[in-house]
Amino acid sequence: AKHEGQNNYQLYTPAINARAHPRMALAKDLQSAFESGNLYLQFQPQLNLATGRTSSFEALLRWRHPQHGMLARQTFIRLAEETGLIIPIGAWAIETACQSCVSWRQLRPGPLRIAVNLSPRQFRQPDLAGSIATLLEKTKLAPSALEVEITEGLLLEDMDSAFNTLQSLSALGVHISVDDFGTGHASLSYLKNLPFDSIKIDRSFIQGIPTDPESRTITKAVIALGHSLNLKVVAEGVETPEQLLYLQKHHCDLIQGYFISKPLDMPEAQQWWEEKGEK
Ligand code: C2E
Ligand code: CA
Ligand code: CA
Ligand code: CA
Repeated sequence: AKHEGQNNYQLYTPAINARAHPRMALAKDLQSAFESGNLYLQFQPQLNLATGRTSSFEALLRWRHPQHGMLARQTFIRLAEETGLIIPIGAWAIETACQSCVSWRQLRPGPLRIAVNLSPRQFRQPDLAGSIATLLEKTKLAPSALEVEITEGLLLEDMDSAFNTLQSLSALGVHISVDDFGTGHASLSYLKNLPFDSIKIDRSFIQGIPTDPESRTITKAVIALGHSLNLKVVAEGVETPEQLLYLQKHHCDLIQGYFISKPLDMPEAQQWWEEKGEK
């Protein structure tokens, strides 16, 4: 099978055993989906507001499920996280994202970065930076062309090891982005002291533009905060022209959302890069 040799994880953790059968069945389905190549990635373009072009895509995991169709993402990613399957699946996702980035850049050179999401369990795996370094060497992707997205929640528990992992990733040259910014409870001083490159304003704030004054104020303040700390600011979940205009007016760097494009299958993403990629 496609992913042979990566099966060195525990499927039946106590967390799973304690649950109802449908969940266990789904966990088995997920494992066999992974082994038979029924997981795949979509890529959502980010628009650089200064140039009007795309220099980055976020890779998003998908499952082609025979019965459930497109299974609710949050559900199966949470399941992967709980079972530990997220470790081999995540490694596969990073490798696939890196490969795509390399091949698109061969088709049409230009500055291109690919972002992947790291779940808490992935982030806490021993020697995460070492595994990512191996994948970068294998795919021959420059470390600076890879971005990892982590959430604030990771910084709250076991601060020391989170700090070490972030330092190792940063030393490798990989970019680090704080996802869903504003929804967690991380102290703002982390932003100053940790090696982040960008923050992503959560969709819940963007949704409130232009009608909700608080969402507008928070968005504006987060952009200013990010810039004062030399971070790039990305807005996610941009769905309307009003939201784009507001973000442009306040100098947000990159925007991502259905108004620009929904997540694309690999061939469409490649075509997007060829036509709308940064030069
Ligand atoms: P996220 O990192 O916050 O990803 C953004 C989610 O918003 C994606 O959902 C995307 O399809 C959706 N989205 C993008 N633009 C819009 C928009 O304009 N409006 C709305 N309503 N939604 C928009 P998706 O793909 O279902 O992913 C859900 C979550 O699952 C992600 O949230 C991320 O936390 C996690 N995830 C996805 N792929 C991976 C992966 O490869 N590894 C890990 N560890 N987690 C992943
Ligand atoms: Ca993300
Ligand atoms: Ca997000
Ligand atoms: Ca979000």
